[in-house]
Amino acid sequence: MSPNSAHTQGSGATSPREAELPGGPGAPRLLIIYTGGTIGMVRDPKTGALAPFDFDHLLDNVPRLARLGYSLGRVQFHPAIDSSNMSPTHWAAIAQAIEANYARYDGFVVLHGTDTMAYTASALSFMLENLEKPVIVTGSQLPISDIREDGTTNLITALQIAAAKDDDGKPMVREVAISFGDTLVRGNRATKASSTEFGAFQSFNYPALATMNLHIRFREELLWRPSAGGALTAHTTLDPAVSVVFLHPGITEGSLRAQLAEPGVKAFVLRTYGAGNAPTTPWFTSAIADAVRGGRLIVNVTQCPDGGVEETRYDTGDALAEAGVVSGYDLTCEAAIAKLMYLFGKGLSASEVARLMPRSLRGELTEPGADL
Ligand code: ASP
Repeated sequence: MSPNSAHTQGSGATSPREAELPGGPGAPRLLIIYTGGTIGMVRDPKTGALAPFDFDHLLDNVPRLARLGYSLGRVQFHPAIDSSNMSPTHWAAIAQAIEANYARYDGFVVLHGTDTMAYTASALSFMLENLEKPVIVTGSQLPISDIREDGTTNLITALQIAAAKDDDGKPMVREVAISFGDTLVRGNRATKASSTEFGAFQSFNYPALATMNLHIRFREELLWRPSAGGALTAHTTLDPAVSVVFLHPGITEGSLRAQLAEPGVKAFVLRTYGAGNAPTTPWFTSAIADAVRGGRLIVNVTQCPDGGVEETRYDTGDALAEAGVVSGYDLTCEAAIAKLMYLFGKGLSASEVARLMPRSLRGELTEPGADL
């Protein structure tokens, strides 16, 4: 599927309309990829419910964009979608749009609904190998056409971040990041933490990459600096054979075994308690061990947003490690799902994926002993 003709489940990206807003000579060249989300939604006059709308409407509401002086191209999903409908196929369309336009733009701003923004940012971080330019994902809690709204500031700030350079003239941000409210966070560390706050996203296990108040202040020492070099490669084949098992007191053996027996699933993210703990009752441990023996990969990710898995801290976590469960350390659930889909999508075996899951590929987790 090419980004110029992408149509996925009724949605896709079309070719960029060049120089929608032309900038002056030497102006930063940025590509806006509009997928949908509240930022561009309009209210149904009868019900008041919000529905995705098109990109022109969004630009009409931000005439001051022209004052940035940037050269702005665009790619738009047709139709724009509520991000609850986002899927790995859409992620592939976004990644392809970035790859196809990589040489022509200095940076990319992805406009996206907040509900699944952290999943998309996580997925793009893995899919875009050797990324050396900013991919800034943003959206808003209120539509840009509302009188009081957060979309205008979020959009303009995201563009300014995507245009920012360091002292050597290189892009300041060379990774996928979410810019929202007054913070910039690494995409694969982000979680939507509030359905009402203008600062909707938090990165509990890694500090903010920048703060945006009176000034935009980057913390350069925290930004991802790719070491490998090489051309950008967009890995657009993802394997969705991934599921999540959420522990809770009262979970039954029947329910657990039924979930772990789901046909076609290669890997489970096991949402455990606290520092990665789970019941030690024998039926529980043997259901997990049976699934591992049956070839399923199980990754331990805590239900706590802050902190991570330390399996050997308690007996209750130790039993999981002995049963063959792999530690996800301080991965978010969003990043764990995206990473599994990416690694299995590369055609790797379960044992290869198990080896890579506890390693940091794009700064998504803190390996034991590593300094933040
Ligand atoms: N439901 C919307 C979406 O994710 C919410 C938002 O954009 O804030 O598309």
